[in-house]
Amino acid sequence: MSTYRILIVEDSLTMRQLISFALNRIRGARLVEASDGMEGLKKLSMERFDLILTDINMPVMDGLKLVSLIRSDPGYANVPIIVITTEAAQEDRERALALGANDYITKPMQPSKVYEVARRLLNVEQ
Ligand SMILES: [Mg+2]
Repeated sequence: MSTYRILIVEDSLTMRQLISFALNRIRGARLVEASDGMEGLKKLSMERFDLILTDINMPVMDGLKLVSLIRSDPGYANVPIIVITTEAAQEDRERALALGANDYITKPMQPSKVYEVARRLLNVEQ
């Protein structure tokens, strides 16, 4: 069975729990959580990940900065990134995609949507 290592970077505990709940439906998912971009970078330096989900608005280091730093690291150039934005934050969404994010999910989040986007980017079979 495949193992999918997924990093969740989100400052809201409630949101992290919701995302984890959705992603735990993926068989073989192994989840690691970080509460801001800086902590996310630290986790990324410690092990390999197959998928990264990141919020945009976070203290210490926001998601846009995190996406740009991930994409400037050759080791992570091709790792799929999903950004989490509010419905109204179209500008953030476009910037994140321009910086190299692969897809986005808008808040309020539907767990089924999180699950589907993650599965698609991980190429998980049915
Ligand atoms: Mg936030």
